[in-house]
Amino acid sequence: MISKIIAEDIVSRVREAINIKEKIVLVSHVSPDGDAIGSSLALYHYLRELGKMVSVIMPNGFPTSLAWMQGAEDIVLYSKQKNTADRLLQTADLIIALDFNALKRLDKMEQAFLNSSAPKILIDHHLHPEDFAQILVSYPQISSTAELVFRLICRMGHFDKISKAGAECVLAGMLTDTGGFSYNSNSPETYIIVAELIKLGADKDDIYRRVFNTYSLDKLKLNAFSIYRKMTVFPEYKTAVIVLTMKELERFNYQIGDVEGIVNVPLSIDGIVFSVLMREDTDKVKISLRSQGNFSAKKVAEDLFNGGGHFNAAGGESYDSLQTTLKKLKTALPNYTEYL
Ligand code: 5GP
Ligand code: MN
Repeated sequence: MISKIIAEDIVSRVREAINIKEKIVLVSHVSPDGDAIGSSLALYHYLRELGKMVSVIMPNGFPTSLAWMQGAEDIVLYSKQKNTADRLLQTADLIIALDFNALKRLDKMEQAFLNSSAPKILIDHHLHPEDFAQILVSYPQISSTAELVFRLICRMGHFDKISKAGAECVLAGMLTDTGGFSYNSNSPETYIIVAELIKLGADKDDIYRRVFNTYSLDKLKLNAFSIYRKMTVFPEYKTAVIVLTMKELERFNYQIGDVEGIVNVPLSIDGIVFSVLMREDTDKVKISLRSQGNFSAKKVAEDLFNGGGHFNAAGGESYDSLQTTLKKLKTALPNYTEYL
């Protein structure tokens, strides 16, 4: 038996909103990860099962390691199909936002999202969600939004409406946000849900392989290069930093998702509790932060990089040069010594 974490009145409100609305649009965050895609597509399959007209819109593209999920081919990318996405948002009866807590995470889609008069539901597991949804399904203690979607569907009495494809999407999201059940994954109920998903036909081993172990040769070499040539360790701050320029990324024929996961690697060094990856992009520097134990990656993301996220996995961005961004971090590190 899985405990009833989602409040009864929230379940009722979501059920009612879905019942009376026909055209439903699902949206998630920029640079969608496995939880963004997995939670959105799991809900997509369920809503289609109910006979709803459903569309999924993402602000931009996602890695090929996630493209196997059924329904991924139907996802509208705002970066490529702006007109279609704008029309879908404008004509929606209901918009469900998943896996983000700040409007900024919609990137260039933010305005179109706000312009739509459709009522909005937010299903998310980040702390302190902004106030943009009429119905808030916010449970930061749940390790993935995909798990939250599974719980919500079950609570609406529709476990039997979760298809094999839906189960696979839920499991992909759960795996992604727990690093393959290696962190944030000590809740026994997580494994009760995994068991149910496997019973529904999801192949956990195969999904793990698809999500984590499907590297291109270039990606593997870029990973090796990043660790061997581009990582600096600051033992005094228990910190490791990897910095990648656009030129270096191009050398390895960089594709979206190719540096995902690299930031976790330095945490495997004994004594390192904080890891930072800085990736130069065309208009900004993207920063990924990971920590172990009681040191908050989220706090550094908020303090220095106008970002946020989870306690141990956060991100942000900088509009300074790569060098200036790195300097900012190095200058700030001594301020965190008492927490490191
Ligand atoms: P990643 O390093 O994998 O891009 O992001 C890790 C987590 O940090 C994400 O799940 C998300 O919660 C958060 N995150 C990443 N980038 C940003 C950002 O620019 N702003 C905020 N507020 N959160 C971010
Ligand atoms: Mn998530």
